[in-house]
Amino acid sequence: MHIPFDNSYAALPDAFYTRIEPTSVSQPKLLAFNDDLSKLLGIETGDLTEAAAVFGGNKVPQGAAPLAQLYAGHQFGNFNPQLGDGRAILLGEVIGTDGIRRDIQLKGSGPTPYSRMGDGRAWLGPVLREYVVSEAMHTLGIPTTRALAAVSTGEDIWREQGALPGAILTRVAKSHLRVGTFQVFAHRGEVDHLKTLTDYAIQRHYPDASGPMDLLRAVCAAQADLVTRWMSVGFIHGVMNTDNCAISGETIDYGPCAFMDAFAQNRVFSSIDAQGRYAFGEQPGIAVWNMAQLATSLIQQMDDKEAAVEEATEIVHAMPHLLEQGWLKRFAAKIGIDAPKDGDTGLIEEVLGLMQTDGADFANTFYALCKGDAKDQFANREAYEVWEEKWKVRLNSAPNAQAVMQSANPAIIPRNHRIEQMIDAAVAGDMAPFERLMKALATPYDLTDPNLARPPSQQEIVPATFCG
Ligand code: AMP
Ligand code: MG
Ligand code: MG
Repeated sequence: MHIPFDNSYAALPDAFYTRIEPTSVSQPKLLAFNDDLSKLLGIETGDLTEAAAVFGGNKVPQGAAPLAQLYAGHQFGNFNPQLGDGRAILLGEVIGTDGIRRDIQLKGSGPTPYSRMGDGRAWLGPVLREYVVSEAMHTLGIPTTRALAAVSTGEDIWREQGALPGAILTRVAKSHLRVGTFQVFAHRGEVDHLKTLTDYAIQRHYPDASGPMDLLRAVCAAQADLVTRWMSVGFIHGVMNTDNCAISGETIDYGPCAFMDAFAQNRVFSSIDAQGRYAFGEQPGIAVWNMAQLATSLIQQMDDKEAAVEEATEIVHAMPHLLEQGWLKRFAAKIGIDAPKDGDTGLIEEVLGLMQTDGADFANTFYALCKGDAKDQFANREAYEVWEEKWKVRLNSAPNAQAVMQSANPAIIPRNHRIEQMIDAAVAGDMAPFERLMKALATPYDLTDPNLARPPSQQEIVPATFCG
């Protein structure tokens, strides 16, 4: 195997990370490998035994500079001054055939100095969940980290449920810089490191940004775009802590995430989100809150703090408007409107209100709208028909409505119950459901596997998700 490493993070000051190698595992076995992504990264795979050794952490590949990154973060609103990669190790970076620099990181590869009480490991369930959901996000056109490989370790790990099969995910990201990476140096008053980090982030992600405030502006725009894209497919991230908020604007950390079946603004899946802080409809507000934390950190390096506070406040206060615009653009497309007007917000909110009252399936209702048979999705058909009349009138002045809807309303999303069934099968040694999901999700706008579009039956409903 040859991975064309070109490492830049490892050249940053020692305070940014701890050099550490993965801990070997007893029986690494390659369960899934992303050939397309590996080609994009310029990797020459070679034989699969070696790939299992590399992505299982038993063999450090030539040119890697393994390290665990330091960061801090607000977890559910409470600041933790030191987190860091507790179970992840960055092998290094490659520059893809598209010219983009990306991190290659093992997740679940053993303890690091930042593991705190954790075992540094992951179990098969969350590894395959992240593999499927992150790749689905990618095919849905939503910025996200990617999955390169999943390896089972042959070792048991212990969680609340008992002994579970261990696994390692190889995650690929435009970088793993987070709001929390800025917070750790800002909190410590390490202004030189904060400046170094800011320059690094600008160079890597927003080379046109003229300085810290311009970086803030760019990240706000990227996060606003990301969150409205999530909402447009009914995605609930579940753990939008500042350490899970990537500067690149990619979706990162698929812990307790889920796609909604029945629509509800206050929908929560995460077993640890008792207050509903990260509920579906709370996500835009949390994105703004996270950007306020980034602003607070960035300001620490400015000479004229008073002016910086004023500028940063203005930037963060502009974000709700960006979110509204993004939301309108995405949801208008879902009902066939390419160039939304002011009044369209009401039209969209009205149909979402009917969906919420009736517990209509989010994905299937919008998919049915473009097929012209949405009526069956509603318990109160009369109310829907009243709305449909107004909608049809509006569509008279909406060109290409059909095509617009088709590219905004996926037929197949990774539904929670299908993910759980896939995990149960994989634990029993059967990877067929995994392959089936991956195949259908490769073209999510086509109804290639109608059974995967079916909402869960009463018995199949998965009410809660776990961090794993
Ligand atoms: P998360 O909620 O997944 O973003 O994780 C929060 C923090 O806990 C991060 O610093 C993780 O690296 C760490 N962490 C999560 N699970 C483990 C584990 N099993 N072992 C060690 N650290 C962990
Ligand atoms: Mg995390
Ligand atoms: Mg996590």
